[in-house]
Amino acid sequence: YAVLEPVYVGGVTVQSATLHNQDEVARKGVRPGDTVIVRRAGDVIPEVVGPVLAKRKKGLKAWKMPTTCRFCGSAIVRQEGEAVAYCTGALICPSQRRERLFHFAGRGSMDIEGLGYQTIEELIQKGWVQDPGDFYSLTADQFTQLEGFALEKDKRTGRMIPGKRTRNLLRAIEASKDRPVARLLTGLGVRNVGWTTARILSRHFPSIDALQGASAEDIASIHGIGEVVGMSVVDFFGQKGNRAVLDKLRKAGVHMADEGVTPVGEGPLRDKTFVLTGTLPTLSREEATALIEQAGGKVTSSVSKKTDYVLAGESPGSKYDKAVELGTTIIGEDELRALLA
Ligand SMILES: [Zn+2]
Repeated sequence: YAVLEPVYVGGVTVQSATLHNQDEVARKGVRPGDTVIVRRAGDVIPEVVGPVLAKRKKGLKAWKMPTTCRFCGSAIVRQEGEAVAYCTGALICPSQRRERLFHFAGRGSMDIEGLGYQTIEELIQKGWVQDPGDFYSLTADQFTQLEGFALEKDKRTGRMIPGKRTRNLLRAIEASKDRPVARLLTGLGVRNVGWTTARILSRHFPSIDALQGASAEDIASIHGIGEVVGMSVVDFFGQKGNRAVLDKLRKAGVHMADEGVTPVGEGPLRDKTFVLTGTLPTLSREEATALIEQAGGKVTSSVSKKTDYVLAGESPGSKYDKAVELGTTIIGEDELRALLA
């Protein structure tokens, strides 16, 4: 939005007005320092209509989206097709801190029971927690200084010790170190990476290191994942601040790699790329995809020279024609099963 010198419009004083994003700023031709026309309709937030060019002072420069975050210094990026730019410093940005920490500890992520909104708020205010890595160095002594974390008397020794709530919370924090990579990945708050996406990613990259080492193209080529996610992941790991927090988590003993998982890319179909078209006799599309991926293969959505096999069922679509045109090997369900055997 735009910050304005206070002006009296239709009975109220207006100090800010809607100016959604970079596109709108460009479309309306508004520059910082301009005199602008503001419109207010009903109770909605006033809107900047456009500049009064006659009143434009000399030397006003066009507005440019800042390239670094004013809160944390991380890169500000705007992805193609997205209207809004965002700060990539997910793990360190103070403007996102409270929600991020809450999200990290939440049920769908690291599931640290007893670490609720209010406790997190207090931990931030005391200056003890700035990023999720700090959760793991909190002590019983610190917790007992928080609201609602009383000391209690040890029945055997008669001494005052941290209460049950503190002990349970410390245990919950400890337990969260062993979550699968997909949970950690969800908790990191990488843009466009929720639980479903995190799970797919962790099947292909069973460790944080493997994911960090992947290129946007590698990630985007996974079935069910797109370029937007690829870029978001690369942007996230590209920030030094985020990497520093990951190091902190690693040093604290947080589980960073799933063991016993065959990453996609190993197995009989290693490095083979498949495209599915038509209805298979017994397998659903999801089942066929899962079988191929479990065997190390990759499923993509369109036929190209890089496609090794087109798995075709009944009434195939244009992908079939494309495969014929390119001379790609076309197989059916039986042949797929033979390849898997
Ligand atoms: Zn930031």
